[in-house]
Formats: sequence, C-alpha cells, structure tokens
Amino acid sequence: MTADAAAENGPVLVISAHAGDFVWRAGGAMALAASRGAQVTVVCLSFGERGESARAWREGKKLDEIKAIRRDEAASAAGVLGAKIEFLDAGDYPLRETPELVDEIVHCYRRTEPAVVMTHALADPYNPDHPAAGRMALQARVLAQAIGYDAPGEPLGAPPVFLFEPHQPEQCDFKPQVLLDITEVFGVKRRAMECLVAQQHMWDYYTDLARRRGVQLRRNAGPNLGLAHDTMAEAYMRVYPQVTGTLR
Ligand SMILES: [Zn+2]
Repeated sequence: MTADAAAENGPVLVISAHAGDFVWRAGGAMALAASRGAQVTVVCLSFGERGESARAWREGKKLDEIKAIRRDEAASAAGVLGAKIEFLDAGDYPLRETPELVDEIVHCYRRTEPAVVMTHALADPYNPDHPAAGRMALQARVLAQAIGYDAPGEPLGAPPVFLFEPHQPEQCDFKPQVLLDITEVFGVKRRAMECLVAQQHMWDYYTDLARRRGVQLRRNAGPNLGLAHDTMAEAYMRVYPQVTGTLR
C-alpha cells in the first residue's frame, strides 16, 4: 500500500484533551474515515469535568456526576461518528503532563497502529490543557516509534499528525494549511455535536465555522470542480512535511 492509500484507509487515532474537543474539531474527519471502513479510535485524556462543563456545575451537580455525564455524552458522540472511545481520566484544569500519562498514550499508539493522528494545536493562551495534550501526543508518538521503548506491540511507523483548529485560531498561531471537505458527513457531525448537551452553545458556532471553512475550500479548489454550494469543511495544520511521489 502506498503512503497515500494507507492514510486514506488505515486506522485513525485522535487524542483529545477533553470529552467534547474531538467532536467540534475533528468529527467530520472521523466520520469520513469511518465511512470508508477505517478503524477510528479517540482517546480522551480527561472528561473536561472542571473546565468545560459549566452548565452542569451551575445546576449543582457534583464532580463524579459530571464526569459520568460527560463520559456518556462523549461515548454517544463517538458512536454516532463510528469511532471507538477510550478515557484515561487524567483530570483537567489543569491537565498535567506526566511521564505516566505519556506512557499510556504510547500504549494507545502501539495498540491502534494509526496511519493518521489528530490532536490539539501547540499554542492556546485560552486553554493550556489543549497544547498540553498536543505536546504529549507528539512526545508519545516519538517514543512509540523507538524499537527499544518498553511497550507491547510493534514500533510505530511515521503517521502524519494533523492539528485541530483551536476555538480562537488567530491567537493560537493557527493557519488552515489543510481544508478537508466534510460535506457528505456533516449531518453525522451535527448529530454527534448534539450529543454534547452540556455544551449546547457550541453547536451553531461549529456549524457556522464549517460553513466558513467550506467557503475557503471552494475558493482554493478552483472554479470548475462542481463543488456543492453548501460545502462544509474542517481546517487542520500539519506538524511534519507531506511525503509524496507527486506534487499535489
Ligand atoms: Zn477542550
């Protein structure tokens, strides 16, 4: 299989700081991969129980209750997207970068053998948990590649890493280098978003963002591709260079 074919059909690993992040930022990519028969796994490092569950706190719910709610919501959303989900329950606000957590992520890489990885951008002055997750995802990827690293499974290859679009991209040094057409699965992504009742205020925000990125996608795709007027898209940044035998 060529690198391009592997990236199209091979396993996908998504490393998400909090329970909802993967849905807003990568739900379209996940649904697309799953629709092509790829195995998609999302690892939630925390439930977003302290920092991204304000509504539940205002309703007077307790920490354990909130974790359970967010876990159920995220599991439902992953199910809609066609993905498996794992929770590492590492805590949020702050999400602490520890060798033990990095090691757990190495095990995820070795277990899932991803052809494509998605995670958070490396800068976010509004939410340090997000870049912390991104840094740990990159560190664990390198460790998983090392034949001498003590974890079950084969050493990892070199899956490309795509960074999610942060909530406020201009403040996070984010440039939309990759625009992914998610038009055919946007209905699936919207249903997954609607599983996240604790963050209902985000549903329309991320629908509008997909529409704006879709406009950019059309602008960059040339005038004659026959793309639908309602094209929807997600934006990503790459960490490593594209490897290809053909410039495209
Ligand atoms: Zn988050």
